[in-house]
Amino acid sequence: MPAEDRFDMVVIGSGPAGEKAAAQAAYFGKRVAVVERSPSPGGAAVSNAGIPTKTLRETALYITGFRRREVYGLRLTLDPEATLAQLRTRTAQVIETMTDAVRRNLERHAIQFIRGDARLGPDRAIHVTGDAGQKRVLHSDVVLIATGSRPAQLPGVPLRDPDIDDSESAFEIDRHFGSLVVVGGGAVGCEYASIFTALGVQVTLVDSGGRILPFLDAEISKLLAEAFSGMGMRLVLGGGRAAVARDKGGLTVTLASGEEIRPEKVLFASGRAGNTEGLGLEEAGVQVDDRNRIVVDDRFQTTAKWIYAAGDVIGPPGLASVSMEQGRVAACYALDIPFKETVDPRPPFGVYSVPEAAMVGLTEEGAAAQRIDYEVGRGWFANNSRATIAGATDGLVKLVFQRHDRKLLGIHVLGDFAAELVHQGQAVLNYGGTIDYFIHSTFNVPTQSEAYKYAAYDGLQRLKAS
Ligand SMILES: Cc1cc2nc3c(=O)[nH]c(=O)nc-3n(C[C@H](O)[C@H](O)[C@H](O)COP(=O)(O)OP(=O)(O)OC[C@H]3O[C@@H](n4cnc5c(N)ncnc54)[C@H](O)[C@@H]3O)c2cc1C
Repeated sequence: MPAEDRFDMVVIGSGPAGEKAAAQAAYFGKRVAVVERSPSPGGAAVSNAGIPTKTLRETALYITGFRRREVYGLRLTLDPEATLAQLRTRTAQVIETMTDAVRRNLERHAIQFIRGDARLGPDRAIHVTGDAGQKRVLHSDVVLIATGSRPAQLPGVPLRDPDIDDSESAFEIDRHFGSLVVVGGGAVGCEYASIFTALGVQVTLVDSGGRILPFLDAEISKLLAEAFSGMGMRLVLGGGRAAVARDKGGLTVTLASGEEIRPEKVLFASGRAGNTEGLGLEEAGVQVDDRNRIVVDDRFQTTAKWIYAAGDVIGPPGLASVSMEQGRVAACYALDIPFKETVDPRPPFGVYSVPEAAMVGLTEEGAAAQRIDYEVGRGWFANNSRATIAGATDGLVKLVFQRHDRKLLGIHVLGDFAAELVHQGQAVLNYGGTIDYFIHSTFNVPTQSEAYKYAAYDGLQRLKAS
């Protein structure tokens, strides 16, 4: 076996989980290769998921002047073709820059990037087939599978129709359209639905559940739904499954109520399935579940001792942020590196809709379900100087805390920069702090962060009043 084909760890897939696992191992002096079937590294996060959708969002908000148009009385008339060109150009630029960043990270850590489709073989071999059919066999003490996930095939959904998109194709807008039905009120569905509403598209968001984003605190979820309605989006919630069909007149979405909608486009944003086909998992003794997701233990080890797995391919939560951490921890266990033993059990969630929402820790409903004697405090952006100056007064910081000792349990933010703001509360939460931290700390004025202080004061007042 040639020395250049021998590695301490081979990682299959270069998305957030694979890249960070490889870098972690290489940092500790291990010889690492990353096998990737796509021409460029970075995985879904960079090529067709998080980075492109957030770029689309930022560009849409900027060119439409959406955030501030009411404050300054702006009435922008957008040229649809020019808007489309700007959205596409900017998204392509950011994808390229972020792909380069991943490539440079691999190079900086002297990680070999090997193009091709990987398949597990006997005797700790990994067979790689390149685009032109060329073969290479790698050997490694351990393998980390980080092959990610893709939109699940939903029964009866004609995804090949050019006007029906899934969560990964929707950002590639090829033409101007005036109406859209989004099926799925999860993070991806809400993000797309609100971005396209901001762009002036007539959007109907359909979800069979009673509320959007059911993992959020119910109050935040309700306020977000109200904000969506206020922007002109139509929400159809709790009405059962919607069916889509095409006839000569175009697409028809039939709601469970019998109502028919005729949108120009439909976006299905629900369900993901693991990318496990062709990896030779069965022969290697790696167990998968009924949605093709690899089964791992708390060390990310699969049912085959030399094979580990991390990221979307092992199932929820399906976040780049968590996938990265799983990759790092998995690499440490796989190679006996005494550095990182656990993935943060309380990750934050950010929903990059318009407006933005974020949370970490317990919701009010979660605290109640655990029979915790809790109280809440709210700091509304309507009373916040920075938010007022910026004209971004929708939303709040909401704290959930334990009554008897004021220990912080959860933080919920709705409004501009929610995904950033939540991290301050996260730090206090993770260090076991109380809402007193916000009372006694001095905040820059004016800042949106100051809403934490007034959320804490509101919490104290509620304690006193009860
Ligand atoms: C629209 C959308 C928006 C999102 N927004 C966010 C967000 O804002 N924040 C967030 O944290 N998460 C977000 N996510 C989720 C995030 O994209 C995923 O959680 C993340 O990409 C998973 O990382 P991964 O490394 O497990 O897999 P992936 O990123 O999917 O990477 C897997 C890689 O493995 C490669 N591969 C697969 N099979 C093989 C094989 N046999 N051989 C070689 N290579 C192979 C693939 O080509 C791919 O490059 C979003 C997802 C979607 C769909």
